[in-house]
Amino acid sequence: MKIEEIIKRCVELEMVHANNCPAYNKGEMTGCNCYVQMTLNNLLEIEEALEKSVVLQSHYADLLNMHDGGERIIFKSVEEWMNRLKKLRSESSDS
Ligand SMILES: [Zn+2]
Repeated sequence: MKIEEIIKRCVELEMVHANNCPAYNKGEMTGCNCYVQMTLNNLLEIEEALEKSVVLQSHYADLLNMHDGGERIIFKSVEEWMNRLKKLRSESSDS
């Protein structure tokens, strides 16, 4: 993720924290360790892991396509990966 995207994501998550934290409005937000903050921290870690796994997927899809001439999708971002999952999900619920 680019630094601007990380900052944007942190601001978004801080808004979620502000809107849901039991302590936020009591001026205890610095270093807050509430369940909302812990959940958001877990979410950030999962997002980071997902991003790394998409990079790996793309790398191996590319290698395998070169090896066997296949046409595996090479995802350029987590967003592309998620969009593909949503598409597959909606296709399977249609049938
Ligand atoms: Zn909090």
